[in-house]
Amino acid sequence: MLIDTHCHLYLPEFEQDIDETIKRAEAQSVSKIILPNIDSESLNPMFTLYNSNATLFSTTIGLHPCSVKKDYEEELSKIFKDYTNIINIIGIGEIGIDLYWDKTFFKEQQKAFDFQLNYACENDLPVIIHSRNSLKEVLDILKIYLPKGLRGVFHCFPGNLEEAKQIVDFGFYLGIGGILTYKNNNMLEVVENINLEYILTETDSPYLSPVPHRGKRNEPAFIIEIVKYISKIKNIDFEKVASITTKNAKTLFKLQ
Ligand SMILES: [Zn+2]
Repeated sequence: MLIDTHCHLYLPEFEQDIDETIKRAEAQSVSKIILPNIDSESLNPMFTLYNSNATLFSTTIGLHPCSVKKDYEEELSKIFKDYTNIINIIGIGEIGIDLYWDKTFFKEQQKAFDFQLNYACENDLPVIIHSRNSLKEVLDILKIYLPKGLRGVFHCFPGNLEEAKQIVDFGFYLGIGGILTYKNNNMLEVVENINLEYILTETDSPYLSPVPHRGKRNEPAFIIEIVKYISKIKNIDFEKVASITTKNAKTLFKLQ
């Protein structure tokens, strides 16, 4: 049994062949796919997909840092004030700070992040963190929330081994995806040295396809390539990597 802890299967990229995509995932023993939300626009397609198969899918809600603009307060209220959005979610995400694409709304990104971390603590929900060129800024904010019981995962973990150790010290998980399979990446050293107990597997579909599918659209069936790579790097057999990373995801997101 495998879990894809981060997958945007509700995006238009999958409109044409969603049923086949799901079948391919199930054929690879993917039994849970977590759908993180991006902004108010993506709520509807995400919940529609969720409702089509509530056993396979789980959802989280959140305002992605790249979607934080001048109107972020309005966006947050659209996402968080509607009770129907909240009943079925298992976490808050994806949220965080992204200083790679655009620094214009850095202040607003911090405020939106704060609001959503507070919300996660108050509702005892794990968070899915997106951080790009912003690890220090993100860790500084997270420190404030750790005493309130905040838990979560750094999706598509972007850092080096030192930073990975710091995140593990926070009790957070590292989301490992396709980047691990690319040449010259930090992730090899990170995965080699970090205990499997802190690793979650994810595809981030449709982005970041693992080798040998690099360059093509990513999909949840490819999670098997990530597990194979982790297994090879850590020299732990495939079944054991699958069962421990699945257990980690179940623990963090309180899945059945
Ligand atoms: Zn994502």
